[in-house]
Amino acid sequence: MNRQVYTFGGNAGNDVRNDDPRGRDKVVVGGKGANLAEMAGIGLPVPPGFTITTEECVKYLAEGGDFSDALRADVAEALTHIEKTVGKAFGDAADPLLVSVRSGARVSMPGMMDTVLNLGLNDATVEGLTQTSGDERFAWDSYRRFIQMYSDVVLGLDHGRFEEALEIAKEDNGYMNDVEMTASNWKAVVREYKGIVEEQLGRPFPQDVQEQLWGAIRAVFDSWDSDRARVYRRLNDIPGDWGTAVNVQAMVFGNMGDTSATGVAFTRDPATGEKAYYGEWLVNAQGEDVVAGIRTPQYLTKAARERARAKPLSMEEAMPEAYTELAAVFELLEKHYRDMQDIEFTVERGKLWMLQTRSGKRTAKAALKMAVEMVDEGLIDEATAIVRVDPMALDQLLHPTLDPKAPRDILGKGLPASPGAASGAIVLDADTAEKRAEMGEAVVLVRVETSPEDIHGMHAARGILTARGGMTSHAAVVARGMGRPCVSGASGLSIDMKSRTLRMGNRALKEGDVITLDGATGDIMAGEVPTIEPELAGDFATLMVWADKHRRMKVRTNAETPADCRMARQFGAEGIGLCRTEHMFFDAGRISAVRQMILAEDEGGRRAALTKLLPEQRADFIGIFEVMAGLPVTIRLLDPPLHEFLPHGDGEFAELSDAIGIGVETLKRRAEELHEFNPMLGHRGCRLGITFPEIYEMQARAIFEAACDVAAASGEAIVPEVMIPLVATRRELQILKKVVDETAVRVFAEKGHVLDYMVGTMIELPRAALMAGEIAEEARFFSFGTNDLTQTTLGVSRDDAARFLSPYVEKGIYPRDPFVSLDIEGVGQLVQMGAERGRAVRCDLKLGICGEHGGDPASIAFCEKVGLDYVSASPYRVPIARLAAAQAALAK
Ligand code: PEP
Ligand code: MG
Repeated sequence: MNRQVYTFGGNAGNDVRNDDPRGRDKVVVGGKGANLAEMAGIGLPVPPGFTITTEECVKYLAEGGDFSDALRADVAEALTHIEKTVGKAFGDAADPLLVSVRSGARVSMPGMMDTVLNLGLNDATVEGLTQTSGDERFAWDSYRRFIQMYSDVVLGLDHGRFEEALEIAKEDNGYMNDVEMTASNWKAVVREYKGIVEEQLGRPFPQDVQEQLWGAIRAVFDSWDSDRARVYRRLNDIPGDWGTAVNVQAMVFGNMGDTSATGVAFTRDPATGEKAYYGEWLVNAQGEDVVAGIRTPQYLTKAARERARAKPLSMEEAMPEAYTELAAVFELLEKHYRDMQDIEFTVERGKLWMLQTRSGKRTAKAALKMAVEMVDEGLIDEATAIVRVDPMALDQLLHPTLDPKAPRDILGKGLPASPGAASGAIVLDADTAEKRAEMGEAVVLVRVETSPEDIHGMHAARGILTARGGMTSHAAVVARGMGRPCVSGASGLSIDMKSRTLRMGNRALKEGDVITLDGATGDIMAGEVPTIEPELAGDFATLMVWADKHRRMKVRTNAETPADCRMARQFGAEGIGLCRTEHMFFDAGRISAVRQMILAEDEGGRRAALTKLLPEQRADFIGIFEVMAGLPVTIRLLDPPLHEFLPHGDGEFAELSDAIGIGVETLKRRAEELHEFNPMLGHRGCRLGITFPEIYEMQARAIFEAACDVAAASGEAIVPEVMIPLVATRRELQILKKVVDETAVRVFAEKGHVLDYMVGTMIELPRAALMAGEIAEEARFFSFGTNDLTQTTLGVSRDDAARFLSPYVEKGIYPRDPFVSLDIEGVGQLVQMGAERGRAVRCDLKLGICGEHGGDPASIAFCEKVGLDYVSASPYRVPIARLAAAQAALAK
């Protein structure tokens, strides 16, 4: 049977129980316990203690009830280890051992769980502590701290009552600070506190030290399931079944007078990454004083103090000996863990003790700087540097971000749909957005939801806010593609188009009022919040070069304008994985030709309209091929249901009637005929090409003419990849491939220029994945359209999911929003099957993914496993995908 209690610390840090590797395994003893054992093992001064495993916590939470006799015996034995090491006994009235009891999960969850300090004090041991420390004030201060903390954490009493009593005591004595309290003042406070406990609890404060200890252990275990811990776990994707360990450790005291101190420190600056110690400390204080903000902590180093022009001495100046020792520990720990460490320490009467070390949390900027510099220093290799940086954190660096120091007046919150910060005047429709932006005004487009015809307004706006829609709603996808910050699904937002006003929670706003969006957090703020510009050079560039060296998969982009393509190339895109042609149809200059085509009564009418569109589409593709010369470009033929392009409202119908010479009534009748009950599953995708082949024919012609022109002019190889959407059967693809091939033959003959090109398909319906073998006989490439594949596999509408998906994630039905991170278990099977069945028939079948998941690191890791050739992501996600692809390759 495995042990459930592991001891650490003691003489020379050697402890027999630590010969068991479980005693240093984070999974078993938690991060804090593992690192305490590790530090003791390398000879650092660690107060002796023991850890009760996370397994015991899981068992306790599942079974409830009392602790087993075996555990009690183990704990008693481990307590003896501490007693022997420090030469004091737990509960000994003459020379008492005091302990701290702390949580420690596998990963740190700062401040989420409970801690009790100074445990082991009672009416008798406080006298012993007075004698052994020779400091009556210290002893009674410790006792009142213990009662206060234990009552809050273990007994669940209202801590406000204790704070109030302390305030009154200070007031009565005319003191400003706790440090002015004398021994007899603290004695009086202890009396007061015990009265509060007895009154609230109906029994006296527990005097039995064993009862105290087991109460604290139970409280730490219980705190794993506290509301705040649950919320933290949900936000950080930490599984609920990990449990926390409990660390019981001999107390050392930073509050034993002016030669004692306590502090927290980072071995490098966690905000900037600069290689300089960074920390705070307090003389004559206990750990919680530093974090709780009761006293303002002092700077650790002289340089930091001078930079801040602060008066109180730094530790470097005030305690040079302990500081030098501490600095040596910093160096040792960084070398040992090969990473920046976040450290807690205490100095007891001049002697340094280490209470914790862990890899420190850091900003994206700091993560990059540290990773790159540590490689330069020879501390880590490139592969480790690549793995160390969270790809999603790069998002922070790719967009202008809000100045973290600026105050925020929060109006409401939505989904963080597209990162970056934007401030501007509220505008409520796309045309107004465009008009006001043309006048040079910064605007934020606020809509209930956006549709493709808002695209010009979205482009003109600095940011986009919608009341409805999720992370893959139109607004979100388009905004990410354009790099526009977007907050979607802000459920507290209501818009009144008549009065052109809106409400957010209980705040009223009107068009023209300035707001700020934080697309990285979903915050919506009043007024303009200052931003800071991104930096893509330096460390960022270096890490990208390393990532490119280590990845196997290519990274392409989803883009449809030359400007987006250019930006994506700057971010390192190696081609276009998805050019959605429908967005081009909305351009002001061509929408009436598009409408004419849709509303035409017959093929002749449609062809007449398509003839008008051909030169426009060709110009689009020329622009894209020019920017992407030398790189593959996948162009998808028209996909959305036609009625999306239809006019809305009498004004637009009248305008169209004038433009194309068909009566308003006829137009309206045609529009009604096109109405669909379920357009997502309706007349869209390749079904348009099957019923109206002339549309795809025009698009294919535009592609080949453009490719021939650019190839001839530039001398570069242009290899168009023509992609057919929403295919379910081989025959569909066969019919449409023929349309494309015949058009190619005709264009090449006309141009006297022959090009290599490919025809392939999206795999975005379950049937297509199942029939991938057959379909591959017609396709040179597959691109997994995991947006539609998720929608059709789950039977969940991607445009409506936001309204009900979050409880699904909260309840653990799906681990993450399946439109954001691929449902690997379910949809993943179809991707894998499609890839395998396709490759079995055509071994050189090119495989990629172009759904939103192509920019999500977890999904990218899956794509690597299945052996896809590339992922395609929106331009701003390209660097994220490059890093994630490298991490995925390294993980193999
Ligand atoms: C998809 O369905 O995954 C896809 C990329 O196509 P769209 O989002 O345009 O439907
Ligand atoms: Mg699709």
